[in-house]
Amino acid sequence: MKLFAIYGNPVAHSRSPLMHNSVFRAHGIDACYTRVHLLDGAQLRSDFFARGLCGANVTVPHKEAAFAACDEVRGFAQKVGVVNTLVREGERLIGYNTDADGFIDAMHDFETIRTVAVLGAGGTAKALVQRFVDEGYEVHLINRSKERLEAYAWPAHTYTWSDTAAIKALRVDMVVNTTSAGLSDNTMPLPQSLLTSLLAHSRYAADVIYGHTTPFLHMARSMQLSTIDGAAMLLGQGVLANALFIDHALPLETIRAAMQRSFEL
Ligand code: NDP
Repeated sequence: MKLFAIYGNPVAHSRSPLMHNSVFRAHGIDACYTRVHLLDGAQLRSDFFARGLCGANVTVPHKEAAFAACDEVRGFAQKVGVVNTLVREGERLIGYNTDADGFIDAMHDFETIRTVAVLGAGGTAKALVQRFVDEGYEVHLINRSKERLEAYAWPAHTYTWSDTAAIKALRVDMVVNTTSAGLSDNTMPLPQSLLTSLLAHSRYAADVIYGHTTPFLHMARSMQLSTIDGAAMLLGQGVLANALFIDHALPLETIRAAMQRSFEL
């Protein structure tokens, strides 16, 4: 039996095991997908091989550590230095990023987007900012602290929370929360007055968190914005990851249908 896993901290909330096991079960694939609570990202590679895994997904906060753990990184992941999918090829670890395509897939109902504000500057933000730039959007990136803004050559205008005047002057079509604010607490990804100003002039809001309505998404909905939560992105990235795990043995639509059913469980 082939073994797969998701690494994260926290990871108990993850729906990935349910999604991937639904595909394996529905199509008689001799495989099982579990979750691993990993505290130290530097242990990712040794833990992966010690468990005899064939593949894995990586979530908060280890996606950059996953990039460093790979022998080879392919496609979009190479461009952004962030890996969310690991596949074992012999004794080599190959890294991919399926998050950004999953998000673009999820926002298909959002029309005529030209400008975006991304909240947070972690691994997920790196992938989304690059993908938005590739789509031709003007991107404004807002992070709580300045360290992550300075540690990476962001292809975006960058701000910390203390740039209040500049943030209040922003007019964007879509606001995307990529922070962990609201994941397991009730915090906002931006001080309330700045968030109110940003959302008041936007049409769309998206949160990459799924499973419950975050305070950010609740606020956006109360201000009549069209919204999506992270479930659609989760599905999109999961379909692409599963195809890599099973070496494209099933069509993407077949994988998607099996995974979609797991959301009803
Ligand atoms: P990282 O740990 O790499 O980055 C976290 C970012 O969030 C940092 O910029 C950090 O700011 C900011 N942050 C954390 N807590 C707060 C807070 N209370 N208020 C404001 N900012 C905060 O995380 P990832 O990018 O890997 O993941 C981020 C989120 O995306 C997670 O909730 C994860 O579950 C979700 N996700 C969902 C996916 C899906 O498929 N739906 C796919 C991938 C991720 P600072 O620099 O100041 O610390």
